Amino acid sequence: MNIRIIGSGSMWTKNNSACYLIDGKIMVDFPNGACKYLYRLNIDPNSINHILLTHFHGDHYFDLPFYILNKAKTENKNVTLYCSKEGKTKINKIGNLAFPNSFKKYYKLLHLKYNFKENFKIDDYEIQKLLVDHGNMKPAYGYIFSKDNQSVGFTGDSSLCSNIEAMSKKCKYLFCDCTRLEGNSKHQGIDNLQYLSTKYPDCIFVVSHLEDETREKLKELKIKNILIPEDGQTIIL
Ligand SMILES: [Zn+2]
Ligand SMILES: [Zn+2]
Repeated sequence: MNIRIIGSGSMWTKNNSACYLIDGKIMVDFPNGACKYLYRLNIDPNSINHILLTHFHGDHYFDLPFYILNKAKTENKNVTLYCSKEGKTKINKIGNLAFPNSFKKYYKLLHLKYNFKENFKIDDYEIQKLLVDHGNMKPAYGYIFSKDNQSVGFTGDSSLCSNIEAMSKKCKYLFCDCTRLEGNSKHQGIDNLQYLSTKYPDCIFVVSHLEDETREKLKELKIKNILIPEDGQTIIL
């Protein structure tokens, strides 16, 4: 598994908004600016065929209109979007706002499939979609990828909840929300990560969606099983 950290920051930082590219073709979230982030890393957004969305805040899906418009003009028009049911309406709405005269045409040209299932497969990965707790934003999901008895998780935006613990227990690597210095009802904080990294020492926590002060503090703390990634970094498992 090749995981490229395209973005590791919260919206209000110079770092890219949190998203990941797996094996060069599967994106977890597609935030504002995602196409530009990819181009800067010399990655063609059209090489992506699977997009897993965690929830419908703009910093997790607002670049989809640009991706869809461009992808519809290429030879390989196959895309599958994995999300909750309201995704179809929301993506159409922002697409038509972005390109009032042409979105409908390109949306029709694209071979776009939606997948709302809780368990599905992409290539050799068994993927599980789990509910997490992101305050009033419901539903919000995390994903676990499993292959050859090894699991890697992505929490999306979430406060500390039972499914985050389940993911920490199961996964070798967990790419997880650590936005804040102190966790609240919407996002995890360093206090939550200190708890998780002690209770689940076999899991490596790759923190993400970081505010700048959280990133600095985590670097000072140097916790053994917490990895603070830079945008563009690759993790090979
Ligand atoms: Zn959010
Ligand atoms: Zn967010």
